[in-house]
Amino acid sequence: MKIFSAMHEYNHEEVVFCQDRDSGLRAIIAIHDTTLGPALGGTRMWPYKTEEEALQDVLRLSRGMTYKSAAAGLNLGGGKAVIIGDPQRDKNEMLFRAFGRFVHGLNGRYITAEDVGTEVRDMEWVRMETPWVVGISEALGGSGDPSPVTARGVYFGLKACCEAVFDTSSLRGRKVAIQGVGHVGYYLAEFLHKEGAKLFVTDIRKDRVRRCVGQFGATAVEPDKIYDAEAEIFAPCALGAIINDETIQRVKCKIIAGGANNQLADEHKHGRILMEKRILYAPDYVINAGGLINVANEVEGYHRDKALKEAEGIYNVLEQIIAIARQENTSTHEASNRLAEQRIEQMSKLKRMHVISKPREIRGERYAW
Ligand code: NAD
Repeated sequence: MKIFSAMHEYNHEEVVFCQDRDSGLRAIIAIHDTTLGPALGGTRMWPYKTEEEALQDVLRLSRGMTYKSAAAGLNLGGGKAVIIGDPQRDKNEMLFRAFGRFVHGLNGRYITAEDVGTEVRDMEWVRMETPWVVGISEALGGSGDPSPVTARGVYFGLKACCEAVFDTSSLRGRKVAIQGVGHVGYYLAEFLHKEGAKLFVTDIRKDRVRRCVGQFGATAVEPDKIYDAEAEIFAPCALGAIINDETIQRVKCKIIAGGANNQLADEHKHGRILMEKRILYAPDYVINAGGLINVANEVEGYHRDKALKEAEGIYNVLEQIIAIARQENTSTHEASNRLAEQRIEQMSKLKRMHVISKPREIRGERYAW
């Protein structure tokens, strides 16, 4: 694989290959763009079949983080890391501490966190070697479970969508179908119930459905029937690629807005079809940015109330995206990419002014920023 051409394609700044024979570590850290600030993004552990596959994934994911942070209004750039290995079999303290030393070597240009295949415990091993990690436990000064903050952002994002479609941000009496009532879906159901929405919920775990039926008077729906629910809003909070060639014909809602990642099987194609069907789609990476806002807060000293308040700002971001999409007759997905690119472009101009940067304090330790 031609590495420089791959980096050139989406203009990645830096790619670091990390190898440690003793721990067996093979990892790649990709820094896509640091115009807005240090590159933040999780570490994915996956048994990639080839090195090319791992590199492609880290390049794609790190670029996605640039857009996510920029659209959320955060002063963070985009980065991501992948560790090649089986998360069920190959994890140990030495591996993550070796990885932590590589992260430390980047001196804050890249800040890591958990992702698919990694968990809080792994990040605590990383923390033993570097402060440049977020998403660690509350006991170690971290932010703990991000899902209440993610759900808060989704709830406010939903309100912005309702304002655009129904001329009122109120959810009282609205019918909302939630797919997946795990962490994010459950907290979202709670917010919606408090505001008087009528809920239809599904999950492959029956106990989770029963909890929502009991607590929020929700109507239980079989997993495969959720697309046919007579609801005005569909909130995917489980898996990715659930809007595909088959389901896009079935959904009857006016708004699709939920916490799940990568909801559209094909962003371009399905984004366009939703637009033609006059179904308002809240771009997933925008509406679920509460999780990122939560960990971003950890960098300078975590306060849950502040994180929750900032997640409410997703309302304004979606308002802007919907306005751009309507003005330019484009999909909301394309509009959000444009908003992110505009912000990066504008902020890069600010950097022409020279300032003397002062060391900053992060969890009690001082670092040059
Ligand atoms: P979770 O595992 O707690 O909840 C997901 C729920 O979906 C589970 O209860 C699971 O049983 C259910 N589910 C799985 N397959 C299903 C199916 N086919 N039909 C119906 N239900 C199904 O996960 P979570 O933390 O709530 O995250 C949900 C989604 O939001 C994921 O896509 C995640 O990547 C994304 N996300 C989460 C956060 C966060 O803060 N947790 C932040 C950003 C994005």
